[in-house]
Amino acid sequence: MTHKCKVLVVGGGVMGASVAWHLTKAGAAVTLIDSGPGSTPSATAASFGWVGGSASTPSDDPVAFALRLHALDEFKRLERDWGLLPVTVRGALLWGATTDETADLIAEHLAAGSKIESLSGQQLRQKEPLLVAPPDLAAWAPDDFALEPTDLARCFIQAARAEGASVLSGTVQAVLYAQGRAKGVELQGQSIYADKVVLANGYGAVALAAGIGVDLAIEQQPAVLMRFDAGKNVIQHLLCAQDLELRPGKEAGLMSALDYPQQGEAGLQALADETCQAIAQLLQLPVPPRLHSIEVGFRPMTLSKLPLCGPIGAVEDLFAVIAHPGVILAPLLGKRAVQAVLAS
Ligand SMILES: Cc1cc2nc3c(=O)[nH]c(=O)nc-3n(C[C@H](O)[C@H](O)[C@H](O)COP(=O)(O)OP(=O)(O)OC[C@H]3O[C@@H](n4cnc5c(N)ncnc54)[C@H](O)[C@@H]3O)c2cc1C
Repeated sequence: MTHKCKVLVVGGGVMGASVAWHLTKAGAAVTLIDSGPGSTPSATAASFGWVGGSASTPSDDPVAFALRLHALDEFKRLERDWGLLPVTVRGALLWGATTDETADLIAEHLAAGSKIESLSGQQLRQKEPLLVAPPDLAAWAPDDFALEPTDLARCFIQAARAEGASVLSGTVQAVLYAQGRAKGVELQGQSIYADKVVLANGYGAVALAAGIGVDLAIEQQPAVLMRFDAGKNVIQHLLCAQDLELRPGKEAGLMSALDYPQQGEAGLQALADETCQAIAQLLQLPVPPRLHSIEVGFRPMTLSKLPLCGPIGAVEDLFAVIAHPGVILAPLLGKRAVQAVLAS
């Protein structure tokens, strides 16, 4: 009987879940360990779930932008493997403060290889009938979509389990280490041994790596997810305009992703009020939007801005997979992790 490589994957957010599924599918004996909902912060649980290139500006970081475009193909692969993905809405509409700004945005995206089209104000109104004042020109990104990040993570974990992976609940306290190699992890006082350990637990990886002398150049940056009660089907697409990023919620209402206020927690209520007002100015709603919930998520980000997907430090058999934007990159990095972890 051939020996299956035993791999422990720490973290069951979208990244760890993708890594666990890809490694299982590639023939590894995977155990995924996650703290469980609410016990450690999860960026995935507070994520907006926009998958596509149009929300970012290519010239801000051409390398990162090209990687995002490339990463989109991996969702097609997932759809071929699984059938449906947990997609809530397809297609994105964007416009700037002026027609010239929108025209520049479209030209820049076309030059960078995005699939993006120009829409007249009338065409825009057909797509979003509740807009108060559609601009003369908008950008239409037909291939962008939004999905539910926690549902995507759940799909990966279910698929990994179906192929034989095990899932444990609990917080990993330390990486076990001897003679220059990672040997496993300590989970609530118990030692669990494996051939390889993958840290895919977002910012939590920093403390685990530091415990064995490996410095991970990762920071976490807050961002805000707000949900609003606004009725059903009030918008049909992703919208990015007038300083707002909006999409329909899974069941009903609207979701908006926002920058964390400079005043910190104290600024959240004012931000919610401003966002309610901005939504009411953008859309003719039957009832005024009402704040439903506010979540602050901490996005793990590499200081280099490049994805981390491979061995870390001088410790053998220890790997990390951490990147931003993690939902877009999860399927691609899951695939790359197979090569990085199993071929080494
Ligand atoms: C408001 C907001 C909007 C966003 N919008 C988008 C977007 O539109 N598109 C996009 O692509 N990205 C977006 N992001 C970023 C994206 O959500 C993150 O990049 C991604 O979720 C990171 O996933 P992850 O699995 O690496 O980390 P996490 O989701 O943080 O998962 C880490 C997991 O590890 C577990 N864990 C931590 N430490 C331990 C431990 N010691 N032992 C066991 N388990 C542990 C945690 O419980 C958690 O489940 C957004 C983020 C936020 C906050």
